[in-house]
Amino acid sequence: MLSQLRHIVEQVGEAKNLTAAMEALVRQTQLTMAVDCCSIYITDNKNEQLNLMASKGLASHAVGRTYLKFGEGIVGLIHEKGEPLNLANIREHPRNQHLPDVQEDRFNSFLGTPIIHKRQVLGVLVVQQKTPRLFSELEESFLITLAMHLASVLGNSELRLALAQSMQPSGAIHLQGSPASSGIAIGKAYVVRPAFTLAEVRIEKSHSISKEILLFDMIVKKCSDEFSDLALTLKDQLSKDVFALFDIYSHVLKDKLFLNAIRAQINEHQLSASSAIKVVAESYIKQFEAMSDNYLSERASDIRDVAQRLLYHLTQQVEEEIPLPDKLILVASEVTLSMLASIPTDKLQGIVSIKGGASSHVIILARALGIPAVVGSPLPLDSMNQKDVIIDGYSGCTILFPDHVLLSHYQLLLDEENELKKLIEQGECKSATTFDGHKISILLNTGLNANQHATIVGHFEGIGLYRSELPFMLTTSFPTEQEQTHSYQGLLSQYAQMPVTMRTLDIGGDKPLSYFPIVEENPFLGWRGIRLTLDHPEIFLVQIRAMLRASLAHQNLRIMLPMISAIEEVIEAKRLIVKAWREILDEFKLTSDTFPLPDIGVMVEVPACIFIIPQLAEIVDFVSIGSNDLIQYLLAVDRNNSRVAALFDSYHPAVLHALKLIIDSCHRYHLEVSLCGELAGDPIGALILLGMGYNRLSMNATNMGKIKYLINALSRKELAQCVEQALVAQNGAMIRAIFVDHLETKGLGGFIRAGK
Ligand code: PEP
Ligand code: MG
Repeated sequence: MLSQLRHIVEQVGEAKNLTAAMEALVRQTQLTMAVDCCSIYITDNKNEQLNLMASKGLASHAVGRTYLKFGEGIVGLIHEKGEPLNLANIREHPRNQHLPDVQEDRFNSFLGTPIIHKRQVLGVLVVQQKTPRLFSELEESFLITLAMHLASVLGNSELRLALAQSMQPSGAIHLQGSPASSGIAIGKAYVVRPAFTLAEVRIEKSHSISKEILLFDMIVKKCSDEFSDLALTLKDQLSKDVFALFDIYSHVLKDKLFLNAIRAQINEHQLSASSAIKVVAESYIKQFEAMSDNYLSERASDIRDVAQRLLYHLTQQVEEEIPLPDKLILVASEVTLSMLASIPTDKLQGIVSIKGGASSHVIILARALGIPAVVGSPLPLDSMNQKDVIIDGYSGCTILFPDHVLLSHYQLLLDEENELKKLIEQGECKSATTFDGHKISILLNTGLNANQHATIVGHFEGIGLYRSELPFMLTTSFPTEQEQTHSYQGLLSQYAQMPVTMRTLDIGGDKPLSYFPIVEENPFLGWRGIRLTLDHPEIFLVQIRAMLRASLAHQNLRIMLPMISAIEEVIEAKRLIVKAWREILDEFKLTSDTFPLPDIGVMVEVPACIFIIPQLAEIVDFVSIGSNDLIQYLLAVDRNNSRVAALFDSYHPAVLHALKLIIDSCHRYHLEVSLCGELAGDPIGALILLGMGYNRLSMNATNMGKIKYLINALSRKELAQCVEQALVAQNGAMIRAIFVDHLETKGLGGFIRAGK
């Protein structure tokens, strides 16, 4: 049953448009359930009716023309109650309504279930049979389960657009997605579709193996040249770490394992070059997609993108000659780097990608280039090409078909935003001191590409968080002590003049190591961070020794322990750190005067830590709040689950009270405290922290300019008053509003919304 369900849902998900999806649904369901009829009605809120969208069994001429007003007939009843209905004979039901056009007189038994997405009834799914009988429990549960699966597939698709359209009074359509790169963009939609998809390739044998190999080698070269050209164009506009993204593409195109696997498919299985690319790329994609870590699963789209570009050149398709608008918004089902490659950057104003997440390469690139982007918006790709589009990268809203009033309103906001950008750039290298004279330490969060922030070294006072597990995730086995030493040396010497806080391995949860698989029911509550490394002291000791060795030259290391929930863990970890330190002292004939034990701190990210700060203060030198996990654990909301993303409320009163408790406790017990989660780089979050008395904020390089500007412009005293009000507010929205108001009165609203 499960595989049948999955098959239907997949067919619907893969359909090219809404009509095709609905047709696939009724056809497949009728076949699978062996019923005489299957139909789907879609809610039309604007006209307060349920439209018959597709049917296998009812008169085909009625499809698209028949509707039931809300509350009418059995379908209306299901919509109204939001509950399934199983009837042996529909004619006996008092609400039955005769619709002569649909020709359903032949059918007696009826089973219908609502399709509900995020508490909204999107439609009603119905099966009917000539024989009068009650549908079995199994059939009922199949249909209900199918409707639930469909709800999540359809809820994120064009159906939402259809619903939105039916609710719009005017021509402009506002579609909500997720903000991915802040800013406003106005332009003409430039819809790009992959010229040739992997799925479309048919597996074929070839009679001329040598010709296929030659062809393959030729297109690999062509693609490599293409990416190098793009890289050259962008070189001056990008920081080194973002520029390094192109290396990943070149890396795939130079990856002997990948290329030889394709050649082997041609040689050994006599496959055509395109078939061999499909076989190998799909197997790579499958492996990457299976990884739960966002960064690694995103690599699946790199492989797909490169493979499709190879296929494109292979089939020598001539690209459609659509004139490029002067100001364009790149729109695609899944925007990829190679799509970006085909567009001159001076024309590119914004990006909308239906699929993909905020950690995809294109989005990282968009942020680095300052290009506004929105992901996860349902879009009518067929009807929007070359039409006006506005995107709001602050709110995640895409506006289709805006009229001239909307266009000029957003143009004004855009002009103001550009003025603000200039102001921020001017103050980037300054230190951060509040308007009323409180000095704030700004620290950098880093992990991968840690050595790429050379150009902004003067902008921060230290590394507040080095996520040491990230490099571990890119290797195929545990790095040796020597390899680790080498890598940490690079980091510690690059930032020799400032303290560098290295966090010990925080694997587990959503950060798996391919060479150390962990299978758990609840990985975020399981064997993660310090819990795992204390159970494997050999891994912990190697890492600590490597850190200490790397710090011999500049002695700027601080060690931080992740996922601490009990004092015993800190005591044990410290025992191991001291053991490793003594070994280093012995090995290098040093003393505790010439090479003192580095400062040791813990992350406050498990709520339990909030209440043991007095005990922690006795044994650690500092704490740093991991707000990402602290919020996740405090609110019991998985930080990576898009279904509950709206519940991940960084301004929830519980979060505020937790932050207040922590700072008060730390002050009382004279314990150094900083915050290194995303909250520090978020304008409202930073204001809350400043108002509470936090003096150390660690954030990504991209947020630094903005946050410093705000610190320099605002007074702590006034923010403390806002915090006082916020601490008695009822919910996150009210708390946010307090700080939004404050920013607006200071003329700084442009930091959290479009405009100045
Ligand atoms: C955090 O939890 O806020 C944090 C900084 O660590 P990570 O995001 O790596 O879990
Ligand atoms: Mg964390």
